[in-house]
Amino acid sequence: MGFICFREIQGLIRPPRTTGLDREGDMFLRQLQVGSMAVFAYIVGDRESRSGLVIDPAAETDRIIAEAEKNGIEIQYIINTHGHVDHISGNADMKRKTGAKIIVHEADAEMLVSTPAMILSMFRAKSSPAADITVQDGDMIRVGSVNLTVLHTPGHTPGGISLYTDGYVFTGDTLFVESVGRTDLPGGSWQVMLRSIRKQLLTLPEDTVVLPGHNYGRKPTSTIGHEKRHNPFLR
Ligand SMILES: [Zn+2]
Ligand SMILES: [Zn+2]
Repeated sequence: MGFICFREIQGLIRPPRTTGLDREGDMFLRQLQVGSMAVFAYIVGDRESRSGLVIDPAAETDRIIAEAEKNGIEIQYIINTHGHVDHISGNADMKRKTGAKIIVHEADAEMLVSTPAMILSMFRAKSSPAADITVQDGDMIRVGSVNLTVLHTPGHTPGGISLYTDGYVFTGDTLFVESVGRTDLPGGSWQVMLRSIRKQLLTLPEDTVVLPGHNYGRKPTSTIGHEKRHNPFLR
C-alpha cells in the first residue's frame, strides 16, 4: 500500500493500457497506449455499419487491429494528427495489414514521407507510405454515422490537426492533459500553437473530452473546461 501511495504522490499512476470511452449510441472509441513513447493511438468506429478508423497507429499494430476486430470494427482510414515519426511509425504495417487509406493535413504530407533515415533507425520505424488523402481545416472524415471534423491546429507542426466529434476532441501533440506540445522542432511556433489552441480548441463546449496524443499527464484524458482553468500554459 505504501508503494501505491508513493506512486500517487509522485503522479506516476498510469491508466489501464486500453481504455473504453464510448459515447452513448453508435460510436465505438478505444484509447490504446502503444510503443515506448507513451503515444495514445485511438480506434474510432460506428457500431452499426462496423466501419472505423485509427488515429496515430504509432506501434503495436497487431494489438490495435486485434482490438478493432474483437469489437467488429473494420479499419478503413489511418489518420495522422501530424507527421512526426513517433505518430506515423506504424503506418506502413497498418496499411499493409488492413488496406486502410492514410489521411494527413496537406501541410504535413511532405513530412510524412521524408523522415530522415537516421531518425527512422533511431525509432526502429519504417518510412510511411504517402498520404492517400490530404485534408484542410473544416473537412469531415466519416465512418458510418460518426463524423470527425478536421480542426487545423498548427504550431507543433505546420500541418497539425485536431479532430472533433460531438463530445470528444483528439488533440495530437497540440494540447496535452495540463500541458501543451513542444514548438522547438522544425516548423514549430509557440505563437501559432497558442493561437490554434485558443481559437480552435478552447472555443469547444467545456465538457468536451480531450484525447491527447501522449500519456504525459496525471490522467489519460481531460476536458476543455479543465484545461481552460488548470493548464498552466494557457493562463
Ligand atoms: Zn509531435
Ligand atoms: Zn508525439
